[in-house]
Amino acid sequence: MNNVITIALSKGRIFKETLPLLEAAGITPKDDPETSRKLILDTNHDDVKLVIIRATDVPTYVQYGAADLGVAGKDVLMEHGGEGLYELVDLNIARCKLMTAGLNDYQPGEGRLRVATKFVNVARQYFAEQGKQVEVIKLYGSMELGPIVGLSDLIVDVVDTGNTLKANGLKPIDHIADVSSRLVVNRASLKTKHDRIQTIVDQMSKAVKHD
Ligand code: AMP
Repeated sequence: MNNVITIALSKGRIFKETLPLLEAAGITPKDDPETSRKLILDTNHDDVKLVIIRATDVPTYVQYGAADLGVAGKDVLMEHGGEGLYELVDLNIARCKLMTAGLNDYQPGEGRLRVATKFVNVARQYFAEQGKQVEVIKLYGSMELGPIVGLSDLIVDVVDTGNTLKANGLKPIDHIADVSSRLVVNRASLKTKHDRIQTIVDQMSKAVKHD
């Protein structure tokens, strides 16, 4: 696939919101990942392919050069650590916040807290910076359940409107980071396929909507 430019994307919100930016770079997928079972989508260019993968896998594909470019949330990039890739453009899409949250009646107290999250690296680093002793419990989803069933005192999760927290009797507590999707590139690809990648990057970044 050395002559091909491969772009890693996840289905759903990121795919939908990246489509107009790809269009601005003259790239149109030939299939819709919501209805197709294909993992590699052809585009209107023979030498540009899209790989459709889990959002959390995007930085890994780009790190190892299995994809030249990728679109990933800042939350996912923070958790991954960013080795082997450059974060080139803030696409200003899929915006939300990484936050800690707890039960509505949560009061900060003494002692070691338990924190349930899928963002274990982000959580460890955040609480270490705060000088707080925590035990981080890895979950793969439905973090909101943690405090309800007594698994944890707090969670670290992405929050958009806050409705999901509210519906489960939780409140947002501390803001860890603002999240939006970023265009990332494999470091070696940026050298070996520089001109073609730079053109895509420039065209996509020109189409970014700023508020
Ligand atoms: P909310 O609007 O706060 O109720 O968000 C509902 C859920 O959608 C959150 O718990 C997240 O799991 C998810 N979510 C919202 N926005 C994003 C985003 N930009 N990226 C990833 N997940 C999100």
